[in-house]
Amino acid sequence: MTAPFELGDTSHRRLNPLTGEWVLVSPHRMRRPWQGQREAVPATNLPAYDPACYLCAGNMRANGARNPAYEHTFVFDNDFAALSRDAPETRVERGLLVAEGESGICRVVCFSPRHDLTLAKMEVADIARVVDVWVEETVNLGADPMIGAVQIFENRGEMMGCSNPHPHGQIWATRRLPNEVQKETHAQTRYLLDHGRPLLVDYLAEELALRERIVAENDHFVTLAPFWAVWPFETMILPRRPIAGFGELRPEERAALAAALSDLTRRYDRLFDVSFPYSMGFHQKPTDGDVHAEWQLHAHFYPPLLRASVRKFMVGYELLSEPQRDLTPEDGADRLREALAG
Ligand SMILES: [Zn+2]
Ligand SMILES: [Zn+2]
Repeated sequence: MTAPFELGDTSHRRLNPLTGEWVLVSPHRMRRPWQGQREAVPATNLPAYDPACYLCAGNMRANGARNPAYEHTFVFDNDFAALSRDAPETRVERGLLVAEGESGICRVVCFSPRHDLTLAKMEVADIARVVDVWVEETVNLGADPMIGAVQIFENRGEMMGCSNPHPHGQIWATRRLPNEVQKETHAQTRYLLDHGRPLLVDYLAEELALRERIVAENDHFVTLAPFWAVWPFETMILPRRPIAGFGELRPEERAALAAALSDLTRRYDRLFDVSFPYSMGFHQKPTDGDVHAEWQLHAHFYPPLLRASVRKFMVGYELLSEPQRDLTPEDGADRLREALAG
């Protein structure tokens, strides 16, 4: 059991400097030793091609469009987009009732033509092609004067409400900054003004000095369990040098990011010997044309599992007051570090 500073094994709160929000940590509830059991769940045997899948190459989608016979990645506009491209900018204020038109673009990114793969099972070179798509889409969507933010994400697994196992992610590009990006922009701007350096660059330096929450690292990226993590095995992937958005990634950094994603998703799958569900996504600088020296590109992985068959729920106190966790982020990092050892 590792506990930070002089807090020992007693309940405490940790601050997320990116959002200004707190998480309640209760390590004393985890004093029982970890059982170390791996409840092996039989692998679901998916076919490499599913004629009924709307993402497989050559198949028909619900709107009648046919997918090309793609060999690597395939990107298209979501047939049931959550955002309209041409919503009016009108703002409505009637006392406390405030609303505004919001337009945007929803894209779907197929990671591979293989129906049965996941990031954890894909070759690093093929994940690098997915990274290339994220760069391309960020640059192209961001160049549209209507688009102020590009959110790249993946919902993996039925537990996360993902109905189709075909490896794919989404990109939602919006006119305005969504809540999380707005909070992180404010916090990082304030930090840069106060300290003259990006918040996440300083944070990574602290973590590399302490080495309590580092999960894995390569030449360009570090994977760690953030000090303020809410989910049992929550992680972030951070670049070593200041990189505000996907558009600034050098070729060798794209390859290193692909390697980091492969490493982390394999660790997750190995943890309980199940295909690990998660929501993951990247935060990057707004695409309003400004430099945004405060921003540091990063990935968040939010996996719901506590054990192979037990998921964490955000209910009760967490919905009404603040998130709470028993397993410390230090222990989560230890378990992920050990997952690929030996
Ligand atoms: Zn498929
Ligand atoms: Zn973030």
